[in-house]
Amino acid sequence: MSGPQVPDAPTRVDLRALTFEQTIEWVTTGLGQPRFRGEQVWRWVHGRGVRSFDEMSNLSRDLRALLVERATVGTLEVAEVQTSHDGTRKLRLATRDGRSIESVLIPDGDKTTLCISSQVGCAVDCQFCATAKLGLFRNLDPGEIVDQVYRARQLLAEVDPDRRITNLVYMGMGEPLHNYDNVMSSLRILTHDLGAGLSQRRITVSTAGMVPRIEKLGREDVRPNLAVSLNASSDEVRDQIMPINRKWDIGKLLGAIRAYPLEHRRRVTFEYVLLAGVNDSLDDAARLARLLRGIKCKVNIIPWNPHPEADFQRPSAAAIEAFQEECKRLGLPTYLRTPRGDDIDAACGQLANRSHGEPLVPLRVRKPVAAPALD
Ligand code: SAH
Repeated sequence: MSGPQVPDAPTRVDLRALTFEQTIEWVTTGLGQPRFRGEQVWRWVHGRGVRSFDEMSNLSRDLRALLVERATVGTLEVAEVQTSHDGTRKLRLATRDGRSIESVLIPDGDKTTLCISSQVGCAVDCQFCATAKLGLFRNLDPGEIVDQVYRARQLLAEVDPDRRITNLVYMGMGEPLHNYDNVMSSLRILTHDLGAGLSQRRITVSTAGMVPRIEKLGREDVRPNLAVSLNASSDEVRDQIMPINRKWDIGKLLGAIRAYPLEHRRRVTFEYVLLAGVNDSLDDAARLARLLRGIKCKVNIIPWNPHPEADFQRPSAAAIEAFQEECKRLGLPTYLRTPRGDDIDAACGQLANRSHGEPLVPLRVRKPVAAPALD
């Protein structure tokens, strides 16, 4: 015997998770339909973001019946929407297996940025981050990644119809490069011009620093903007606050960044979470400027957003300003990221499936499944 059989294993294909080529292949070879039917199905699923086959009004009744039998359109359920006083909205989305993930919709002048999750929880264990405290439950599949965009787009159409999502950042729960293949598929799906049609120039993938995957991303044909959570100016401190640094230290990380192919006029973004007394001294600023010299980049300073699971402090406004001024004086382009949605636990590093301050999953349970070794 080769292990237990899974009863009711889903045999229907989830169209939300397929790339354009896979959809065409499935509709033509799998269903024996002409190619243009595949394109129509794709447009419904990814261009319009529909939730059911009934809505696919230009398909024949027979084809719709066949689709119902053989396929699903896996959608996330919007379980809750919380709205911040600053207009930021946090969506809590339920997966079909009952997990919760979060996306954050951030209006900012003409721009509207959607921040999406790539995993349920996270395995990377950054000491200052609330998501890390959940441990990793599982990867999101490509359909669950892209559907966050469609659900947010639908919400926006209801609450603020003049706005469109202009920018997409993979900065929600999880480490995108730890879920590399599914994140790549999601990028292919979202940038396809018959689908959501997002430009890769307006998509940013953020990583805690999985060096081999950064190198691999640099060789892809679809290449988003890259953001790197650096968060320290020395290995000594980075080892402590980001254990991933013990595997790939700052030297290796910056080596990969220097080699990363950048399009004309593109820059890498470094995120730098500012933690009082840990990485916020003027010496840190000087070391940071030295480390990043010669890299086409900008630095986003993120003053630490508090949450109950870690006991760091946000530096004073004066210390934040002094740090930024020193970076600028040394020629480093530096921006201060003002917290958005922190009153609803939606700001950077606060995503932990909480609603009105209450944890939805037991936060003290670490690593509910064995965390895969990062490779
Ligand atoms: N795992 C990826 C994607 C998450 S991006 C990555 O690490 O890049 C989330 C960003 O928020 C990261 O730059 C992270 O360093 C930062 N962050 C985490 N916890 C934070 C907190 N409590 N306050 C401010 N920023 C935080």
